[in-house]
Amino acid sequence: MTLPWTLQCASCGATRDAAGLPGVCERCGQPYLVRYDSAPGPDAKARLRERGWTMWRYREWLPLADGEAPVSLGEGGTPLVALRRLGAKYGLPELALKDEGTNPTGSFKARGLAAAVTRAVGGGARRFVVPTAGNAGIALAAYAARAGASARVYAPRSTPPTILAQIRAFGAELVLVDGHIGDCGTEARAYAAESGAVDVSTLREPYRIEGGCGGRRRACTACRRAAARPWCGRSSPARSAVRRGPTRVPWRRVSEFRRRSATG
Ligand SMILES: [Zn+2]
Repeated sequence: MTLPWTLQCASCGATRDAAGLPGVCERCGQPYLVRYDSAPGPDAKARLRERGWTMWRYREWLPLADGEAPVSLGEGGTPLVALRRLGAKYGLPELALKDEGTNPTGSFKARGLAAAVTRAVGGGARRFVVPTAGNAGIALAAYAARAGASARVYAPRSTPPTILAQIRAFGAELVLVDGHIGDCGTEARAYAAESGAVDVSTLREPYRIEGGCGGRRRACTACRRAAARPWCGRSSPARSAVRRGPTRVPWRRVSEFRRRSATG
């Protein structure tokens, strides 16, 4: 399958094609970002009206090949809720909240894991692993189950029981670790190395970032519903180029939005 995008290292700029099961940059160990070879044509925009409100509504703007079915539970399309009283209090008349709690697994992690599992399954993966403090583990468990693949989740023993119950309910193998999320990450990487499971830890493969941010301009429902004004970048810690943890998603979203806007 020829994929209409390539991967470019966020740090050193090295590129590679997207075939197979890419992890981090082979040269420097930093994450790859998706770079599309061309922009979707006007026909892609015309097809939007025929589609439901999930992130795959914007499939031409996402890492999905022609005719390929995503591993999906209906993620994305979450509401942008106007916060009028709070906005008035702080002089922010357009203040709004993107309610990612309405995603199928209850957090924005559903987006990234849907994309990561879709691409990995397309590359032949049947086994996944992730360390988690909660939401990523639930999401991987759900999307692996959706794909008919297996998942192992490493979580701190102190994780709330309701989260652990959800991970188990989706059929993942749950390993409790006497330590913190970093210890879980160490164990997850070791398991991936010995078993061949795909490690979908944060920033260990390209597609959680891409799915989490929705990638390009049209997939950014926050920007779209705010009349395509990247105000979300001005109020985000992502503006300071903090590119790790949850802030990587708005950073990626806003930077790609600006890049696309600058190039038309
Ligand atoms: Zn690199």
